[in-house]
Amino acid sequence: MENKQTLVIKLGTSLLTGGSKHIKQSQIVELVKQCAKQYKKGHRIIIVSSGAIASGREHLNYPKLQNTIVSNQLLAAVGQSKLIQLWEKLFSVYGIHIGQILLTRSDLKNRKRFLNARNVLIALLNKGIIPIINENDAVATDEIKVGDNDNLSAFTAILSNADNLLLLTDIEGLYDSNPHQNPNAKLISEVHNIDNKLRSKAGKSISGLGTGGMTTKLQAADIAIQAGINVTITSGYKPNVIDSVIKNIHVGTRFYGKKKPNETRNRWIFIAIAKGDVYIDNGAQIAILKKKCSLLPKGIKKIKGEFSRGSVIHIRNMNGKIIARGISRYNSDAIKNIAGCHSKQINQILGYQHGPVVVHRNHMIVS
Ligand code: GLU
Repeated sequence: MENKQTLVIKLGTSLLTGGSKHIKQSQIVELVKQCAKQYKKGHRIIIVSSGAIASGREHLNYPKLQNTIVSNQLLAAVGQSKLIQLWEKLFSVYGIHIGQILLTRSDLKNRKRFLNARNVLIALLNKGIIPIINENDAVATDEIKVGDNDNLSAFTAILSNADNLLLLTDIEGLYDSNPHQNPNAKLISEVHNIDNKLRSKAGKSISGLGTGGMTTKLQAADIAIQAGINVTITSGYKPNVIDSVIKNIHVGTRFYGKKKPNETRNRWIFIAIAKGDVYIDNGAQIAILKKKCSLLPKGIKKIKGEFSRGSVIHIRNMNGKIIARGISRYNSDAIKNIAGCHSKQINQILGYQHGPVVVHRNHMIVS
């Protein structure tokens, strides 16, 4: 018996259009068939589907529009409804219901809204409904956008506490150089750690016509593996690709997830935008990294940014390296006043206290 898994599957525009100007239904038919098979075995499937803008363009017969945000919003408003109708029609063949969720960055960045989005996602899964997710392109402007569905799918995987994130594209996986230009380009089949060397290779690699190419796929993989989720980047044209990932059969490029945090609060830390930085001394660094301690005011040397209590902040060493992220119990002004002091002095200095630590170990994710 296979373990029941939660799997987020991201389908990019280049895969859904097969590189053409229109949505290729045959491609989606095949992927729906594979999803339905896994669904019937009890696995939980979530789909992050691109293609709204391409679909809108096709439905309106490729109108001549100015290259503005509002033109894309218009195309997405038309296309998203066509796209969801298609998913609905194809899943109904298997008697499976779908539910649409359209998100933006602002739906995820504060903890309340994160939990709200998470609740509806989990409610759909509990009812056996397959969530179909996209960015809310019809209203999203650059400031509130995630911007690409690779990163959005990583956030979705964190929201749903997924076991696997599958980024389906139109090439085999991540290569060490551009496979269309270099016949000796090699597929990178396993990744345990994402570093700058790999990032620079990914920058030179390619992936069809999607918004982000390999760069955003690598960003997404980075976010997801930090949160303990395994990631596979591979071709959506591969037969039984979804089955292979669930059965742990190696396909494409596989990224290994780190240890999974079990608290929901900690999962949000991966998604939230850090509002500031605290720089800590060597003693505090050792206490956090080696002794699994919380961050006390005593070890803080300087702080950057203005943030409120409850914000996510970076904890950096004096070289600027991020050693952890966590939820701050004090606002930035308060930390400025108590930095370097003993916890016992907090009340005396501030006239109040929220406990002896600035970032509690339970609300911290060590890099
Ligand atoms: N949300 C976009 C769309 O549906 C796609 C973004 C992406 O491909 O990354 O057209």
